[in-house]
Amino acid sequence: MTAVIERTSGGYVGVVPDEAWREEVRRLARERDAVLLAHNYQIPEIQDIADFTGDSLALSRIAATSDASTIVFCGVHFMAETAKILSPDKTVLIPDARAGCSLADSIDADQLRAWKAEHPGAVVVSYVNTTAEVKAETDICCTSSNAVEVVQSIPADQEVLFLPDMFLGAHVRRVTGRENLHIWAGECHVHAGINGAELAERAAENPDADLFIHPECGCATSALYLAGAGAVPADRVKILSTGGMLDEARETKSRSVLVATEIGMLHQLRKAAPGVDFRAVNERASCRYMKMITPAALLRCLRDGADEVHVDPAIAARARGAVQRMVEIGQPGGGE
Ligand code: SF4
Repeated sequence: MTAVIERTSGGYVGVVPDEAWREEVRRLARERDAVLLAHNYQIPEIQDIADFTGDSLALSRIAATSDASTIVFCGVHFMAETAKILSPDKTVLIPDARAGCSLADSIDADQLRAWKAEHPGAVVVSYVNTTAEVKAETDICCTSSNAVEVVQSIPADQEVLFLPDMFLGAHVRRVTGRENLHIWAGECHVHAGINGAELAERAAENPDADLFIHPECGCATSALYLAGAGAVPADRVKILSTGGMLDEARETKSRSVLVATEIGMLHQLRKAAPGVDFRAVNERASCRYMKMITPAALLRCLRDGADEVHVDPAIAARARGAVQRMVEIGQPGGGE
């Protein structure tokens, strides 16, 4: 397959995801002894060519147990880093290393060290959407599925620093009722863009729909408020990680579901439950970083073995401890 791949600021372009592309991708993956992993927020063509599609933690676990010597992680950079932390001996590739994350970028290791200095003795709990350096400064990582249990596992009189997502932090504080939980004011630009007013409007237009809400969404608080105020029946509001959404999709008795998270999630939900009408609360909730993993980027990655993800072994060793403690507590599910 001959293709002229062009590097643009929005990603690599120049390839049509047709049958020739699919064959070439599969052939190159075999040649490299690579397993292809795709996050739920990837474009449908990337999700469909992948060996496995899922949320960040589930994919990292698959990466660690796979026999393949190379992992191609179609997702954003911190996810590929987590795979490298858990599989230090494997080659980890990301099709475009520029695919970052506004949430992970909202705190760096220096800022975390300064925050820790202000609260000596506090336990640091970080959501998985963080860089390897921040994980290395963390006591326990968490996912949106086990964030509450992780915080409950810490003695009640000990201060907790929760980062980086303020919406997930607010959710944890509300459920645990914990006053000594300090929350970093970070947010994901995509999830923060899904707001309560929009959710209330969509819920009123679709009175029979279930509401699937990711706790990082700006609307998670409003969803619980709406339920509390009787605007929507409480049993219709489900606060779920992306992995939890797929489980719930297979179980739901509702014919229609409003989904508050990144729109790439709709593809897997529709595949999991074809009889259900899944609609986005905000159709513009698309992560430009996730969408940098284009068909051209994947082809280039497999052809050139780029971009390779490296994590300093000393940082990886410290970060691994925090990630492993996360896996031991409750039902870690899958995070984003
Ligand atoms: S959707 Fe938000 S949290 Fe997820 S990768 Fe994109 S910027 Fe980061």
